[in-house]
Amino acid sequence: MASGETKSIELFRVAGVQVEIDYSWLVIFLLVLWSLSAGYFPQEYPGRRTLDYWIVGLVATFFFFGSVLLHELSHAAMANRLGENVDRITLFIFGGIARLSGEPKSANSEIKIAGVGPLTSLTLALVFWLISNAIGPVVSLWTGVFRYLAFINLALALFNLLPGFPLDGGRLLRAVLWKRWGNLPRATARAAQWGSGIGWGLIGLGSLEIFGGALVGGLWLIFIGLFLRGAAASGYQGTVIEQALEHVRVSDIMTREPVTLSPEVSVGEAIEQYFLRFGYGGFPVAADGRVLGVLSLSQVRHCQPQERAHKKVRDIMLPLGPGLEIAPEASALDAMHQMNEADSGRLVVIDGGKMVGFITRTGVARIIQIKAQLGGDASSAEDAKA
Ligand SMILES: [Zn+2]
Repeated sequence: MASGETKSIELFRVAGVQVEIDYSWLVIFLLVLWSLSAGYFPQEYPGRRTLDYWIVGLVATFFFFGSVLLHELSHAAMANRLGENVDRITLFIFGGIARLSGEPKSANSEIKIAGVGPLTSLTLALVFWLISNAIGPVVSLWTGVFRYLAFINLALALFNLLPGFPLDGGRLLRAVLWKRWGNLPRATARAAQWGSGIGWGLIGLGSLEIFGGALVGGLWLIFIGLFLRGAAASGYQGTVIEQALEHVRVSDIMTREPVTLSPEVSVGEAIEQYFLRFGYGGFPVAADGRVLGVLSLSQVRHCQPQERAHKKVRDIMLPLGPGLEIAPEASALDAMHQMNEADSGRLVVIDGGKMVGFITRTGVARIIQIKAQLGGDASSAEDAKA
């Protein structure tokens, strides 16, 4: 999820939060529009013009997606109020992800952040229901639109309240267990088990629907069930990895005395003498004992082959700056976050203004792998270390 490789379109910023949509949303948008305009509204309110169905269908679809957006924004706003720092929301498939930069700081803040979403959807359901009643007792297409929106927001609230991680209800369950046990990985494991179980339940329900003749509705449920199972598993792994990395210092896993590259060497020479010879994905660039920047394969790739003979390492390296530096006492988790944010797979470890080591994403990944192979969760790995 934090790979920076997600395919999404940036839409707009609200209150300091960047809203983006996953490409899958475009497909879902058309599907919802089509099923409302050609299916739901003609069936429920027969005898109108086709164009009218598509107009109300379009309005209802926009409000539907607006409702999902408000649900996600409420999570982000609450998180920001509690100092969690969410600056980006990605809307995709049936919901969205408010990107927390890590796990919530406490069970109480998780309860507030997770709870506010369904509460927002319930409020919207009530508002749309009141509007549909205010429009009047005469059943028109427009009362139909607001009734549909009231229903869909109620459904959104109830679905998200299912107690399976990473749904809101699963996060609430996790927070309660976290409070009771005082152990976040254990609470996450249990809530993720519920998420996986609910995923199976949805798959079963979907299969029954298909046997009952409702092919599209059934496929939807199976799809959501599969998605939930995947999200539960990766959400759990994410927590375990975070826990494992939180207790590892950068100085424990950094490469001391890394091979450095001179800024005056040509790019072609760097490829031949360094990248191909040592097999590393990047090197710190240093001269006279001072580190100047980092050169990694992605910069080399952007340099055209015909330019590689006369361009120098200095010309294409990433110059050293706060984003590329980290202190030896920082945690490996901080290093991981910083590498993701800077979109650079490596950081220079600086102590007292001097380079004391080099840390790479592959290096951190290797530590995670070794910890996993040694077995058990983060806490037992930590015990073994102590
Ligand atoms: Zn939610």
